[in-house]
Amino acid sequence: MYRTHTCGELNLSYTGRQVQLAGWVQRIRKLGGMTFIDLRDRYGITQLVVKEDSSAPVREAAESLGREFVVTVRGEVVERSSKNPKIPTGGIEIALTGLEVLNPSRTPPFTIEEASDGGEELRARYRYLDLRRPPLQEALMLRHRMAQETRNYLSRCGFLEIETPFLIKSTPEGARDFVVPSRMNQGQFYALPQSPQQFKQLLMIAGYDKYFQIVRCFRDEDLRADRQPEFTQIDCEMSFVERDDVLAEFEGLICHLFKSVLDLEIPSPLPRMPYKKAMEQYGSDKPDIRFDMLIHDLTALTRDTEFGVFRNAAYVGAICVKGAAGYTRKQLDELTEWVKRPQIGASGLVYVRCSAEHDGSVSYKSSVDKFFDSQALAAWAQACEAAEGDLLLVMSGPGMKTLEALGSLRLEMGNRLGLRNQGVFAPLWVYDFPLLEWDEETQRFYAKHHPFTAPKPEDLDKFYSDDPRDLEQVNANAYDFVLNGTEVGGGSIRIHDSGVQERMFRVLGMSEDEVRAKFSFIINAFRYGAPPHGGIAFGFDRWCSLFGGSESIRDFIAFPKNNSGRDVMLDAPAGIDALQKKELGL
Ligand code: ASP
Repeated sequence: MYRTHTCGELNLSYTGRQVQLAGWVQRIRKLGGMTFIDLRDRYGITQLVVKEDSSAPVREAAESLGREFVVTVRGEVVERSSKNPKIPTGGIEIALTGLEVLNPSRTPPFTIEEASDGGEELRARYRYLDLRRPPLQEALMLRHRMAQETRNYLSRCGFLEIETPFLIKSTPEGARDFVVPSRMNQGQFYALPQSPQQFKQLLMIAGYDKYFQIVRCFRDEDLRADRQPEFTQIDCEMSFVERDDVLAEFEGLICHLFKSVLDLEIPSPLPRMPYKKAMEQYGSDKPDIRFDMLIHDLTALTRDTEFGVFRNAAYVGAICVKGAAGYTRKQLDELTEWVKRPQIGASGLVYVRCSAEHDGSVSYKSSVDKFFDSQALAAWAQACEAAEGDLLLVMSGPGMKTLEALGSLRLEMGNRLGLRNQGVFAPLWVYDFPLLEWDEETQRFYAKHHPFTAPKPEDLDKFYSDDPRDLEQVNANAYDFVLNGTEVGGGSIRIHDSGVQERMFRVLGMSEDEVRAKFSFIINAFRYGAPPHGGIAFGFDRWCSLFGGSESIRDFIAFPKNNSGRDVMLDAPAGIDALQKKELGL
């Protein structure tokens, strides 16, 4: 027997008990004739003490210990003289009567404690050591709870968990595929699923009207903090539903996870916002609604001016930063540089300070005083609901691009003013996205969500129009679940009519032959009694990281890849030998 209890379990109520623990040596401290050892397992840390009058074998074994040795110890639970109120076991220590080293350890390359002194690369290379640290253990435990609660909840609601294959054919989710060469079919390749989209729709056609799966998806895209080449979705689909049925069902799951994992009550129904409003007021299709600072349209107010930048701009808009009129010239110059960075891409930033005067009036001081008098600036301020002490930040340019730049600036100001507290959660649904997106470079439409998303019924006429301006206006019956400025889920009501699906592929510029080669199976399936259906998929890693209060999804994945898509522990991807290549016909 290695242990009677875990290292997170014992407290004063166990005083006097003989116990046995097993774990890793985190720290050793010598104090006078006594040795204190912090013993760690995934449940916590318990202090062990070896005294001068401990038996010789115990004292000798204690002498031999180093960090990360694996040991099993026996002893009595005793009350500590100097208690540590920060940990559950902080009231006691174990006076050792036995100490056995189960396996020594090399000195670890970094400290394995709450905070580590190891750099990211080093910790990634020794991921199994980094995973011993409490923050990562907590992250994986949170992930486990999320998965467990998801399964419990959806299963209670009648959803069946059904697995779908990984070795498949390309799935059009808009990213590049990872491909796998086939040995048995030389020269041919499987693609790994970007999502199980087509399979879940086929399951609906097969009559499995409520499906879910916590499933790995693979997308070969450039990586960011919240992206991994392989990631996990809670993938769901339902038959005989309209949009509101889907939203209601999954609002149940969302509220359940908030309650069971974070013990937070989320007021239901969740707020809902059309895409158009999200773009116009927040400059983002995933608005962070923890704070206001809305975007206001100043185009009409800035038309009639000598200032060419505004006069010639398709759009002029502003955000009002409450209480920021005191921003110095230097701070404003720095903000201007910030918006000019390529990621934001703005050409400049105009500011208006709304300052209180001694006589109680408000004065306006702007970077465009040459062109706009006080009255004009007051009108802007009024349009932006600005009061004394506020700062207007104004941008101009093409409509969408400027809204997005203002949206980024809004988030940045939210960060700087501490308005984006990780402990506060503001979920919402965004809906009515455009169905299609025109790409200038390739001169064709792309599906904004994916090509199986249904157009809104009222837009079907436009969907069959050959005029690109009509097509651009077609809305999708699609919705996203947004949490604190992050898109956590997305889904749609699907096309279930083979004719509409064929039309969709044609709108996306595919020839009849191409459609037949790539998608005949699903179009065919729609001809055998496809029920109306719709669904959603949640980004599981991302959701976990938001609940865990972290920016990075990597902490919530046991073995993640780095920014270049590498597993630095395994050193993958790697070359393969000549024989293997030959077998694969490569
Ligand atoms: N398959 C979609 C995605 O991965 C989600 C959905 O439409 O259900 O984004």
